[in-house]
Amino acid sequence: MENVFFNRNKTKKIRVGKIFVGGGEPITVQSMTNTDTRDVVSTINQIKGLEEEGCSIVRVAVLDAQAAQAIKEIKKSVSIPVVADIHFDYRLAIMSMENGADKIRLNPGNIGDRERVRKVVEVAKERQIPIRIGVNSGSIEKAILKKYNGVSPEAMVESALEHARILEEEGFFDIVFSLKASSVPMTIAAYRLMSKKTNYPLHLGVTEAGTVNGGTIKSSIGIGCLLAEGIGDTIRVSLTGEPKNEVRVGNAILKSLGLKKGGIDFVSCPTCGRCRINLIDIANEVENKLSSINKDIKVAIMGCEVNGPGEAKEADIGIAGGINEALLFKKGQIVRKIAQENVVNELLEEIRKL
Ligand code: SF4
Repeated sequence: MENVFFNRNKTKKIRVGKIFVGGGEPITVQSMTNTDTRDVVSTINQIKGLEEEGCSIVRVAVLDAQAAQAIKEIKKSVSIPVVADIHFDYRLAIMSMENGADKIRLNPGNIGDRERVRKVVEVAKERQIPIRIGVNSGSIEKAILKKYNGVSPEAMVESALEHARILEEEGFFDIVFSLKASSVPMTIAAYRLMSKKTNYPLHLGVTEAGTVNGGTIKSSIGIGCLLAEGIGDTIRVSLTGEPKNEVRVGNAILKSLGLKKGGIDFVSCPTCGRCRINLIDIANEVENKLSSINKDIKVAIMGCEVNGPGEAKEADIGIAGGINEALLFKKGQIVRKIAQENVVNELLEEIRKL
């Protein structure tokens, strides 16, 4: 089916190392390491794992000078752009850029007087390094909170625009915005509002979304809703736990909206009283084993002869369950019957042949 979300908001195209964000470029999936950035070996290993999962941009926390210097070593071993996350110390931003950071995350209103901003901007301009302004619902300036009677989408947007104004006054325009709240409705409203006010690219995310289970739902709804409206140029799913999960979920969100192609599209039925085959075990085992197969195909695992054949025929390969056996379909045609105990192996063998 034609993708219905082709009306993406036209934003400014920003270069982040070897890739581009915004301007209609493919939406990228980002993540953040949770290693101590100064521990170069662990950080490199984690980034490599994220790259394998399909992460396009990675952020590392820069808490001190040693972490900023570690970026130099990290960059030698990884191939995706590295973003330095800085909070208050402008010197760490400069040091990170000098050590090869491809982008920095920094709110210029938090680093002190204008001279400091000027110094950061000077290096960023010279090296063509973009800056992400990241407003979180928990860190809005007091004056803005007062004006809006607390946290609101308007307050978040005003805070971000205020930070951007500081950079713009210094002649710097390679800006990306994020406006993350832990509340999904607040996040959606803030990004919607921002998309009307700016054409800088938007980095989408629901912050502190929670663990893999709950956080996946919150992120999928928040990020998914915005992407479906054409808003967003890059995404980061925030989950408590192993960062690889963030990348898996991020890519799954893009694929489910048809915004990313490639890989296996796996469908399986929920099973019901009509199912006479051990479909749950079969589906789990097949899905697990498919993770090591790199093919651009749709696989359908269906429980019965009522709704099964239709879906299995539409897939590149699939099964429709019978009584302790299944019918195998390939490219819309019935191939043969397979006994329940052989379904997983025979199906995988057929998939490998495709
Ligand atoms: S495909 Fe068959 S077994 Fe699966 S949910 Fe639908 S009707 Fe039930």
